[in-house]
Formats: sequence, structure tokens, C-alpha cells
Amino acid sequence: MLTLELAVMLPAAALVYVNYHHLKSIERDKVLEAAIHRDFQQMLAISEKKINQRAYAITKEVIAQFPCPDTDSEADKEKKLGLILAANPWLSHVFLYDDQRRFVFHSQPQQLRDPELREEGARQAKMYGGWLGLEGKGMVKKMHEENRPISCYGHEVDRAGGKTYTATAFFCFPQLPEHRGAMGGAIFNPDYLKQSFFPELLEELVSQKLNDEGGNRLAMIVYPIEGGSGPGNRTLATSAGWKEGKPEVSRNLSEVFSGLALGIKYQDTTVEALGQSWVQGSYLILGVLTVLLVGGLMLTYRSVNKEMALARLKSDFVSNVSHELRTPLSLIRLYAETLELGRIRTQEKAEEYYRIIRKESERLTALINNILDFSRIEAGRKEYDFRETDLAELVRNTLDAYRYQIEQQGFTFEQRIDSNLPAMRVDREAIARSLVNLVNNALKYSADEKFLCVRLYRVDDKLRLEVVDRGIGIARGEHSKIFEKFYRTGDPLVHNTRGSGLGLSLVRHIAHAHGGEVEVESTPGKGSKFTLLLPLPGASPGLASAAPSEVAMS
Ligand code: ADP
Repeated sequence: MLTLELAVMLPAAALVYVNYHHLKSIERDKVLEAAIHRDFQQMLAISEKKINQRAYAITKEVIAQFPCPDTDSEADKEKKLGLILAANPWLSHVFLYDDQRRFVFHSQPQQLRDPELREEGARQAKMYGGWLGLEGKGMVKKMHEENRPISCYGHEVDRAGGKTYTATAFFCFPQLPEHRGAMGGAIFNPDYLKQSFFPELLEELVSQKLNDEGGNRLAMIVYPIEGGSGPGNRTLATSAGWKEGKPEVSRNLSEVFSGLALGIKYQDTTVEALGQSWVQGSYLILGVLTVLLVGGLMLTYRSVNKEMALARLKSDFVSNVSHELRTPLSLIRLYAETLELGRIRTQEKAEEYYRIIRKESERLTALINNILDFSRIEAGRKEYDFRETDLAELVRNTLDAYRYQIEQQGFTFEQRIDSNLPAMRVDREAIARSLVNLVNNALKYSADEKFLCVRLYRVDDKLRLEVVDRGIGIARGEHSKIFEKFYRTGDPLVHNTRGSGLGLSLVRHIAHAHGGEVEVESTPGKGSKFTLLLPLPGASPGLASAAPSEVAMS
């Protein structure tokens, strides 16, 4: 037991304790939440990079179509800019700055039809014209120095519905020398950014993450930064599953779409809820494991206990059996020697000695039969020889052999056997042995009131063989245990009486082999009734029901 406790219980308890504390610290320090936030930051950084790459890629397509400030004629420049706008509806305006020529600014033709948009175009043309006239040359130089052929600038434009976000890409011409102050520009259509560029890209990013890593579905948002860190009530674009709410983590975009921020969250849950449910789930698993562990330990404890009890019973059995063998043997020897020496004068005395020798040898035979039967049963080699038998006769004959002994011991003996019983297929020796065991127990475990009654009768489709005594009785809790091998109750009388603890286990085995059962009804101090129930062949339930007093008894 101590080994069990030290080797299993202590490590198991330590494991549960350490796990519990580990979970507590995860819960307290919000470790899971922090890990998810880190993952989100990383996802946002990667997303910004991809957004920039996409913006650069479409800008590069425009650069490839741009007229060259040196080689193209003024008319060609105008024409090519017009073609670029026609081919790229996502652009609002394109412009060409050249410090040696005039500033050319083209807007999408359909925009020019709307007076408000026309005015917005004119405002931007004026702004960029004036600003580039001052800063253009320096900017080109800087872009060359920094080896950055495309430079973007995000800003807002006034529209009828309020301010709206757009970005302008400036680019220098790699074929021109550094000192040449020439630069092209493309201004993104705000509606394109809002309705296609960002929503599509965000969706793409979110689904790619889901495909790559699985897990909870994500949602992303792009919104203009307005002083605070949250999206406020202005949103530029979201992925499809955003619905509403604040992002868990945000990142201000800096390179291409400065002035915007990118936010991320889960579609259907929050990081906090996720952390909580993970911790709760872990507690639950720990709880279940603890219960299983305790259950397992209890089972092990019980089975070890059982094994120990069995080992104890076995050692008791060995000493009981040796005692049981020795006592009759020494009696037989003693009486036989006395007879042999011819010291017995009267015939009566001699007869009594012969009787004792016979009785003790019968007792020895019964014990050895029990042990042999038991060992056959244990080895699975017990065979029964079923034969057509008149059970009433078998019981009567068996009891006759014992009658003298029973009465000699001062027992009042009642025998109620129904003579109208059908013949049954039973193993005669086994049934007789069961009866002998039950009768012997009744004799052994009776103290003051010496009464024995054996009944054989039929109830419905069963034969009942009852052995009743008014002896010491058996406590309720031990009713099932007494049929286990080697088991003997703790009663002092039992302790002082010889026995092997095998008799009832044999009776039960024999009953089962006949398709029957053995039952006990007993009250401590009042007596016991053992009933061997044997099924009658072919009898249907409820057919014949007869109490022993109503039928012819012998
Ligand atoms: P044993 O050799 O000890 O009699 P059994 O298997 O026949 O072994 O009986 C098991 C135990 O059941 C006995 O030790 C005794 O404690 C109890 N027992 C059996 N029959 C009776 C009875 N008629 N009255 C009281 N106790 C009984």
C-alpha cells in the first residue's frame, strides 16, 4: 500500500498540482491572449507588405505605359496619358512634371462631366503643379539618391459625401539622368480603393491565412487614422466577415498608404473569449484527468486490497486444512491404537471407538473431496455426470447417512421431502455433496438452539432444496461473500470451528453447473436458510405450485 501511495499517488498528485498552477499562471498573465496579439501583429506587418507590393505592381504597369519626357512630342505625351487613363479606370488622374516644359495633368474623361469632380481635378492639378514647380527637382534627386523609383503619398480629398481617401504615386524615369527634373504621377481613384482594391485584398489576405493555418476565421479593416488609435466611425474598407466592432490589433500604414491603419480581429469571437474558453477547456480536461486518475487509483487500491485479502485467506486456508486433516487423523490413530492394544473390555466401548473412527474418516473423505473438487474447478477440469435421478430418494439417502450424527449432537431434525417430484438429470454425487456441505454448516454453526430442517419441494418450474438452522446466522454484508472461495466470517464460533472456506463456493459452482442458483436468508443470532434452486426440465412457470405442507411428505 505504501509503495502504491509513494510510486503512483505522489507523482499523480504532483502532476495535477503543477498543471493546475501552470494553468492559473497562464490565466493570470493572459499568456494566450499575448501570443495571439503577437501573431496578429505579424499578420498585419505581412499584410502591409503585400498591400504595398500590389500598389507598386499596378503603378509599375502605368509607368511602363508612360510617355518619355525627352523623346515623346507634346502631342504624343497628351495622347499617351489619355490612353493610360482609358486603360486603367482605377486611376483618377495622371500627370507629367518636367522642369523644362509645362506641367501636364489629365483626368478621367467621365470625371470631367461631373462639375464637382471636375473642380476637384482642377484643384489637384493646381496643387501638384505649384508644389512640384517648387519641390519637384529636389524630390527627383532624392528619389534617385535613395534608389526609390516610386514614392507614394496618401491624402484625403473633399467629395460631396465628405472627405475621402486617396493616394498619389510619384515616379521618376529610370532612363533619364539624375539631374533631369522630370517625374510622372498617378492618383488612385478613391472609389476604386474603397470598393475594390482594399476589400479584395483584405479578403485575399484573410482567406490565405485561413488556408495556410486554419483556426478561427479572421476579419480585417482599413480605416483613416484620426488622432486616436481606433477606427472611429469612419471605415474605408473591410473584409467580408467584419460585421462590426473594434479591431483587436491595429497597425498604422506608413509607406504607400500613409494616413491609414490596418486592423484585425476574429470574425465570430474575441481573443479574450478564446483565452477564457481555452483556459476553461484546460481546467475541464485537468478535472476529467484527475477524476480518471483518482478512479484508477481507487480501482488499483481495491484490487490490491482484494489480492491481499485473498492472499490472507489462502494462508488461513492452508492452516485450516492442515488442522482439519491432522485432527481426524490423530483421533483415528489414537482410537485404532487403543483398540489394537486390546485395552477395551466392553463390546459397547469398542463399538463406540469404531464409530468414532468411521465418523472421522468420513469427515476426512468429505474434506478431501471438497479440496479435490475445488482444485478441479480452479483448473477448469471439473466434469459433471448428469443422470436421470429421483431427487427425493437421493436427498433421503444422503440424510439417512447423517441422521445418527445429527441426532447424536443433540439436534432436533426435521425432514420434509415431497415424494411426487419428477425425475431430474443431475450429478448425484455433486448434489449429495452440496447437501452434505449445507447440513455440515448448519451443524457446525449452531450454538444454543440446535435445530435442523431439510425441505425438498417444488415451486413453479423450480425445485427448492432448503437447509434451515437456528444457529449463529450471518450478517447481511457477508451474504454474498460467504460464497467466495476461502471466505469465512469473523464470528468467534466460526473461528473456533474447523473449516476450509470452500464448502459454499463448491455448492454455488454445483448449482450453476445445474443451471440453478444458491440463495441465503439469514439473521445474526436467529439462524440461516440456504436454498439450492434447481430448474425443472420442460416445466413452464406457474404450472404447479405446491408448498411443502400441502403435499405428501416423508
Ligand atoms: P467453512 O469450511 O468455513 O464452513 P463454507 O464455505 O462452507 O466454509 O462457509 C463459509 C462461511 O460461511 C463459514 O465459515 C461461515 O462463516 C459461514 N456459514 C456457512 N454456513 C453457515 C450457517 N449455516 N450459519 C452461519 N454461518 C454459516
